[in-house]
Amino acid sequence: MRLALGLDVGGTHLRAGVVDESGRIVAQEKRALADRAPEAVADAAAETAGLALAGAGGAGVVGAGVGVAAQVLRGEGVVACAPNLGWRDVPFGALMRARLPGLPLLVVNDLSAAAEGEWKVGAGSGARDVVVVFVGSGVGGGFVLGARLHEGARGVAAEVGHMKVRPGGRTCGCGEEGCLEAYAGGHALGQRAREELGRDWNAAKLASAARDGDAGARRLLEDAGDLLGAALANLCTVLNPARLILGGSVLLGSELLYERAAAGVERWTAAVAREGLTVVRAALGDDAGIVGAALLAMGTVISV
Ligand SMILES: [Zn+2]
Repeated sequence: MRLALGLDVGGTHLRAGVVDESGRIVAQEKRALADRAPEAVADAAAETAGLALAGAGGAGVVGAGVGVAAQVLRGEGVVACAPNLGWRDVPFGALMRARLPGLPLLVVNDLSAAAEGEWKVGAGSGARDVVVVFVGSGVGGGFVLGARLHEGARGVAAEVGHMKVRPGGRTCGCGEEGCLEAYAGGHALGQRAREELGRDWNAAKLASAARDGDAGARRLLEDAGDLLGAALANLCTVLNPARLILGGSVLLGSELLYERAAAGVERWTAAVAREGLTVVRAALGDDAGIVGAALLAMGTVISV
């Protein structure tokens, strides 16, 4: 069976996996990111990839897919902006190709990779139109439209976290104002807990405080859930997916946030698009990125 390498470059961790055509992970490696300079990340990614390849025996690997928590321009794999890594205009595809010679390689947004994984072998399998939104430290998304990952003209489609939900509002990590991520991302929730509640809480602590009945924590998560719900409802109204897949540690880590967002989708999606829409939790967990990146790499190699 053919294999491909999938890499997931997040803000704090690097994951590499060798994946077969059915989406099964044959071998994988994970490490924390110490140095976030582009060259250092590329070195660490190549090393982690090498260990995963060795674990899989190395044979039959036809290509590599690299998902980066960033806005990635189509083609050469230039990272236009990666707030969590502090990168702007980094030719990450070229850096990786130099370190993994002989392996066809593509670079995509990490959530595009995760969307491909969830669609092909996770919570979206069997559907042709799928919207995937993850809330972790940020908010990201990926769209599969007509059984194909939607990239957009420059390759930066589905930047759900940077939809403006309060024009002129809170400043986002991307430098713009009023983004969804600046209200409902995990990092922003921690900031808001400090500013609005005077609590030194991260998103996980905020979720547990809400579970324990803290009124301020509940109010803040309800507000974030409403903003998420309205944004997701608008996406469903515009794109008419059969399935909306919700994932990410922050969204799946708070029942209140998840239920509030899902209730918003139910209430605010236009009736014609709501008919036949199913809202489900992501199924692949942290593996979605490497599985999807590898499947995308395999698909690209097939089509060449
Ligand atoms: Zn933004």
